[in-house]
Amino acid sequence: MRDKIKVKTPIVDIDGDEMTRFMWKIIKDKLLLPYLDIELEYYDLHIQNRDNTDDQVTVNAAKAIMKYGVGVKCATITPNADRVKEYNLKSMWKSPNATIRAMLDGTVFRKPILVKNIKPFVSTWKKPIIIGRHAYGDVYSNAEISIPGPGKAEIIFTPHDRGETTKKTIKEFTGSGIVQGVHNTDESIRSFAKACFTFAFNQKIDLWFSTKDTISKTYDARFRDIFEEEYEEHWIEKFKDAEIEYFFTLIDDAAARIIRSEGGMLWALKNYDGDVMSDMIAAANGSLAMMSSVLVSPHGYFEYEAAHGTIQKHYYKYLNKEETSSNSMALIFAWSGCLRKRGELDGTAILVDFANQIEDAAIETVESGIMTGDLLLVAEKNRNNKKVNTEEFIDEIAENLQRKLQRSGRPEKHNT
Ligand code: NAP
Ligand code: MG
Repeated sequence: MRDKIKVKTPIVDIDGDEMTRFMWKIIKDKLLLPYLDIELEYYDLHIQNRDNTDDQVTVNAAKAIMKYGVGVKCATITPNADRVKEYNLKSMWKSPNATIRAMLDGTVFRKPILVKNIKPFVSTWKKPIIIGRHAYGDVYSNAEISIPGPGKAEIIFTPHDRGETTKKTIKEFTGSGIVQGVHNTDESIRSFAKACFTFAFNQKIDLWFSTKDTISKTYDARFRDIFEEEYEEHWIEKFKDAEIEYFFTLIDDAAARIIRSEGGMLWALKNYDGDVMSDMIAAANGSLAMMSSVLVSPHGYFEYEAAHGTIQKHYYKYLNKEETSSNSMALIFAWSGCLRKRGELDGTAILVDFANQIEDAAIETVESGIMTGDLLLVAEKNRNNKKVNTEEFIDEIAENLQRKLQRSGRPEKHNT
């Protein structure tokens, strides 16, 4: 019997909630563990475990990625008032994604997973639109206050040295209201810009960047200026040689242009814009599950994830013993992405090859007409099209993978 593929460095495996937690385990059991000799550094971010550990487990997971370099994360519940009640939580814990991103810094690149039998809803789109989402700061690490009644809200900066304090009035409240403070750092914006220029240059695609600097003349303007500086200092010649373009425009103008474009660009967006636009792009390509997502940190850490949530509605059906047809593509691509990166960093070509085979097996399964309900709704009509349930979909991919690996002669499946 041929040996399993040895994964030289542990991978940080961050488990999550609800439907995606259920799928996470099946993916590991059927697509990965039979073929890999792998050490998983496991962090359980189930909402209950975050609550039990006062969310320390989330911080530990981020630290583990900083130690090993590559991690993969399942979708997790971000608690709101309903969830606090549902799980009897001690506190409305912060979004684990926000906590991890705040620690790792960096840019999230989201790319549609394309299959031949699903055409994007926007008929002009011929090539994938990749989103580069700044993954640090803004509203995701804000300070908010509820204003109970009349009073003055101010924004104050006190320098650590003996420099002068800066103060500005936000609002003289005459009644109740709300106020929010957000921040970013030049260092993080610069590394966001660097990551986007590098990505666009490596892929030989145009880079679009958009903010609302006409309204936000200091905050958003800073983003624009730093991108401009980075472009002029390091990329102008390289982009010219590669015949690609850097294009800045206002966010609303960009949104309108994207819809009329052919696609094929990297669209760099601030944290919130990227959050919203990536869901729009994913849905326009068929389903939220047809999108791969990776956080690239300037410190050399990589976190792979699915861009969608825990699919709460399907989970309640599953708990009710009703059949579900949840799409595991994005979760599978999170795993293949992290295995490929691990292989590249460790110089393990066979692991890179295995990651590619998983993706091919998943894509070919959908292209053969076997798909989950979300895709069946949008796929080109064909008599071979067949809706399968959550588990069957992964089983079909597993069979496909097994066939492919047998053909290429490596490695054999081992019982786990
Ligand atoms: P969601 O999980 O993204 O699902 C919203 C809807 O999109 C689903 O009801 C389903 O539509 C469709 N969908 C999403 N992923 C799908 C998949 N893989 N296969 C098939 N259909 C899919 O958002 P949510 O249900 O509103 O949020 C649930 C929880 O996820 C929340 O607690 C939220 O905090 C959390 N969340 C986590 C992350 C993350 O960790 N990355 C991201 C976003 C949200 P139909 O019902 O029409 O079938
Ligand atoms: Mg989102």
